[in-house]
Amino acid sequence: MTVKFILRLKKLKKLSFLLLLLPSIVLASIPVKNTPIPGGIVVIDFKTNDTAPTAFYNNIPLYVQHIKDQHWQVLVGIPLMEKFGKKSIEVHDASTRSFDFDVTEHNYTEQYITLKGKNKKYVNPNLAHMDRIKKERPILSSARKVFSNIALSDGFFIRPVNGVTTSPFGLKRFYNKQPRRPHTGLDYAGDTGTPIKAPADGKVILSGKYFFNGNAVFLDHGQGLISVYIHMNERLVKQGQHIKQGDLIGTIGQTGRATGPHLHWGIYLNQTVINPNLLMGK
Ligand SMILES: [Zn+2]
Repeated sequence: MTVKFILRLKKLKKLSFLLLLLPSIVLASIPVKNTPIPGGIVVIDFKTNDTAPTAFYNNIPLYVQHIKDQHWQVLVGIPLMEKFGKKSIEVHDASTRSFDFDVTEHNYTEQYITLKGKNKKYVNPNLAHMDRIKKERPILSSARKVFSNIALSDGFFIRPVNGVTTSPFGLKRFYNKQPRRPHTGLDYAGDTGTPIKAPADGKVILSGKYFFNGNAVFLDHGQGLISVYIHMNERLVKQGQHIKQGDLIGTIGQTGRATGPHLHWGIYLNQTVINPNLLMGK
């Protein structure tokens, strides 16, 4: 829910008849199912008369959406490394309230990857590469922290490509037997040059070439919901550009740390990677 959207709603007040006819279209948000596991999304329902409530998890602002009348919802991305047990968020409207929830265990599978030849630099990068990695780190990190009020298209995200999923979200990964971060996105197989479409409306935060990510695009969908496209062959959008759901943003490639052409698709919610399937109604 953005300020713009609220203003639009106010204009529509006189057209309440239309609102009654089309509640699911006018007031729709992302219909996410509560998934209280690491890498999942916790959905917290609350009521308020406020027209712009805010919410926080560990002091990080959260995605808040309007459902209907006084009914609002908070979407909380749960970190893959989050410990199990009781957690809580704060909701701020006229007052400050606390909402508790439980994070339960989920066992993601393990995957072993062998990198050979020139790809070995991605396992143990040399000093020059480390320098580049260090320079890129704050750029990528601040892109993941963007929290804007841009308007999002209602409803589910669509698939960015049609290819099969080759690596699911959350896989525990080992490169040449060395443990690395779990898989922070979904990998789709596809030939180099396969078109990649925007899964939802958004704005381009970042479009550049990076050591691990190769050619990468970051899209802002508002309120800390950010999608990233990695290992692209071509980037077809520029920073600051507004994107509509289904727009072409680039093509599948094998740039950066990739063993073959594929799209790595990641989604951030409150600066936390979550399973992209949760936004597609799967
Ligand atoms: Zn991947």
